[in-house]
Amino acid sequence: MSVNLQTPIDYLKGVGPNRADLLRSELGIHTYQDLINLFPNRYIDRTKYYKINQLQRNNAEVQVIGQITSFREVAQKRGKRLVAEFRDDTGVMELVWFRGQKWIRESLKTGQPYVIFGKTNWFNGKFSMPHPELELLSEHEKNLRSAMQAIYPSTEKLSNKGITNRTVSKIMQQLFLETKGRYAETLSDTIRGELKLLSKSDALFNVHFPKSPELLSRAQFRLKFEELFYIQLQLILKNLIHRTKVKGYVFDKVGDYFNTFFKDHLPFDLTNAQKRVIKEIRADLGSNAQMNRLLQGDVGSGKTIVGFMSMLMGLDNGFQCCLMAPTEILSVQHYNGLIEWCNKLNISISLLTGSTKTSDRRIIHENLENGNLQILIGTHALLEDKVKFKNLGLAIIDEQHRFGVKQRSKLWHKNELPPNVLVMTATPIPRTLAMSVYGDLDISIIDELPAGRKPIKTVHRYDNNRLKVFRFMKDEIAKGRQIYVVYPLIQESEKMDYKDLMDGYESISREFPTPDYQISIVHGKMKAEDKDYEMQRFAEGKTNIMVATTVIEVGVNVPNASVMVIESAERFGLSQLHQLRGRVGRGAEQSYCILMTGHKLSNDSKTRLETMVRSSDGFEIAEVDLKLRGPGDIMGTQQSGVLNLRIADIVKDKDILQSARHHAKSVLNLDPSLALPENKMILNTYRQMSKYRNIWNYIS
Ligand code: ADP
Ligand code: MG
Repeated sequence: MSVNLQTPIDYLKGVGPNRADLLRSELGIHTYQDLINLFPNRYIDRTKYYKINQLQRNNAEVQVIGQITSFREVAQKRGKRLVAEFRDDTGVMELVWFRGQKWIRESLKTGQPYVIFGKTNWFNGKFSMPHPELELLSEHEKNLRSAMQAIYPSTEKLSNKGITNRTVSKIMQQLFLETKGRYAETLSDTIRGELKLLSKSDALFNVHFPKSPELLSRAQFRLKFEELFYIQLQLILKNLIHRTKVKGYVFDKVGDYFNTFFKDHLPFDLTNAQKRVIKEIRADLGSNAQMNRLLQGDVGSGKTIVGFMSMLMGLDNGFQCCLMAPTEILSVQHYNGLIEWCNKLNISISLLTGSTKTSDRRIIHENLENGNLQILIGTHALLEDKVKFKNLGLAIIDEQHRFGVKQRSKLWHKNELPPNVLVMTATPIPRTLAMSVYGDLDISIIDELPAGRKPIKTVHRYDNNRLKVFRFMKDEIAKGRQIYVVYPLIQESEKMDYKDLMDGYESISREFPTPDYQISIVHGKMKAEDKDYEMQRFAEGKTNIMVATTVIEVGVNVPNASVMVIESAERFGLSQLHQLRGRVGRGAEQSYCILMTGHKLSNDSKTRLETMVRSSDGFEIAEVDLKLRGPGDIMGTQQSGVLNLRIADIVKDKDILQSARHHAKSVLNLDPSLALPENKMILNTYRQMSKYRNIWNYIS
C-alpha cells in the first residue's frame, strides 16, 4: 500500500503490534504523522568520545571506546546482576545488566573493540554504566550517523519494555526510508523566502538527524515558526469570523451622557492609557459586531471609570447596561462609587445581590423589563432567570476569573442579540501568553497608574524578626492606619492552614490586646454573612487589624489600610502575592507590604520574593511567574492550545511567536480567504489541522 502520513503506525517496518500498542498508550503515537512529530527533547554530541580517565562524577551520558575483558555474576537481594569489566588504554570501568543477562552473555564478545553509550554512575570507587548501548566499533564506523544524536521523550514503561532511544531512532529512520523523506510543504514560498526557512522535508530530517548544529537550529526555527504560525492564523481567522458573523448592538453615537460626564463631571484627568482604552472600546461598540473585549489593568489602574464611560455610550444609544462583580462586597463598592456619578447625570441605577429584599427585587425586575432602570449592578443574582432586561446593550464583568464561561454566556440568552461584553481583570496575563491565547485582538491594557500614587514599599523579613514587625504595626496603628495580616490557604493542607491561621490569630491577639486594639478575622470556614460582617467592621474602621486567609484577595477597597503583612509568603504564587499587595496603597498614605518567611527557601521562592521586592509592575511580575511556572498554571490557559505545543515554547520562543503572528496577519490582510494560489498550501494545511483537531477549543 502507498504510505501517507495518516497510515497507522502498525504498518511501519520494525513496529509490531506490541510496539504499536506501547507507542499509542505511552506517547500518543497513532500514525506516521504522530511519529514524525515526536520531537527530541535534546541532543547529544556523538562526535565526542571519552577516555575512562576523563569521566566525571556528574552522571551524564557519555560515549567510550574500549574492550570487554571479562564477565562475572554478582548475587544481590533479588536475583543477580551481570557485570562486565570494560577497559581502554587509560583505565577500567564496569558495565552492568540487571535484565536480559543470558542474551548479553551470548552476544557480546570479549577482546573486541566496542563503542558504549549511556549514563555513568560512581559506585564502589569505580565508574559503572548500567544497561549501556553497545555497538562493535567496526559497525559503529559503518553507520551513517548524525553528529548530534536526538534524545526522544520516553517513559519508564517504554524503557522497561526495551524500547530504548536507539529503538525509537531506528523506527524513525525507517519512517524516513518509507516516505523517502518527502513531506508536503506547508508554508508559502514568500514566507520561506523572507525568513530563509528550510523546506519542510529538510527541517524534519534535520530535527531528527541533524547534519550539523547549524542545520539543527534552522530546522528547529522552521518547525517552531510553523507551529506558532498556524495557531496565530487560527486565532486571527476566528476573530475575523466572529466579527463578521456575530452581530451585536451598535452604539453609533456619542451623546449627552458621555459628553456631559466628560466635560463637567470627570473627577480627575484620565491617564493616557485610560483614554486609549476608551477609544478602543468606542471603536468596538461603534461597529456592528458584538464586542468581546478583555480589559486588563493592574489593581488601582482605574478600570472602573473606563467601564462606567463605556456604559454611558450604551445609555446614549438607548440601551441598558449591567456590571457584575464576583462578591457582594465588591458589588456594593461599585454601586456606592457609581451612584454618585449617576445622580449627577440623572441616571437610574440599582443594586441586585443575594441579600436584596424580595420587595425591592420585584421593583427592580419591573423597572428592568419596562426599561426605566438604566444600570444594574450586582452579583450572580443578575444571572437568575427572573432578571429580564428590556434591552441589555453592554454587560461588564469585573474580575473575570471568578465567573465561568458558561455563567457568562447566560447573560447572552436574555436578549435577541448578545450584549457587548467587557471583562475587566486585574490579573495580568503576560503579553506573550495573551497573544498566543487570544491573539490579542480583543485585549485592552491599562499599563499606567494614575499620577501621584506613592509606590508601596515592599520588604522581605524573616520570622525571627517578628517582634520588630509587631512594633512597626503598632506605630502604624498609632498613626490611625489599618493592617491586613494574611495566611496561606492551600487546599491540600486545609487543616494545617487553619491551624496556622488560628495560632497566628492568637499570637496577634496577645500582642495587640483589647480594649486598645480590635481585631477582625475572616477565613474560609466562616459563613458568608459572618465574613461580610467582619469585612464591614474593618472597612468602617472599627477594627485595626484584619487577620485573614486569602479570601480577601479580590477587589476589596479599604483606603485606610496601609500595611499588608503576608505570612509564609514563600507559599504563595507570584500573582497571588501581587494581588494581595494591591489591597493596600489605595489611600494617600505611604503603604507597606511585608513578606514574612522562614530561613529555608527554595530557589523559586527566593525569585518570587525578590521579584516582589523589586517590582510593582503586574505585567513584569506575570512574566516572571510564567517563566517560573510555565503556562500550565496561569489563568485562562488551561484549555488553550499553548499547552499542547509540540516544539515551540511560548516563553523561550517569544520572538518567533511575534514573527509568526506578524506573518499570519500579513497573509490574511492580503488574502483573507486564502484563495490565492500562492497560499494554497496554507489553506490545505489549515483545513487538515481543523479536521484532526478541533481548533475552536483553543479559546473559550
Ligand atoms: P481598579 O482598576 O483596581 O478597579 P479603580 O477603578 O477602583 O481601580 O480605581 C482606583 C482608584 O483610582 C479609584 O479611587 C479611582 O477613583 C482612582 N482613579 C482612577 N483613575 C484615576 C485617574 N486617572 N486619576 C486619579 N485617580 C484615578
Ligand atoms: Mg476594580
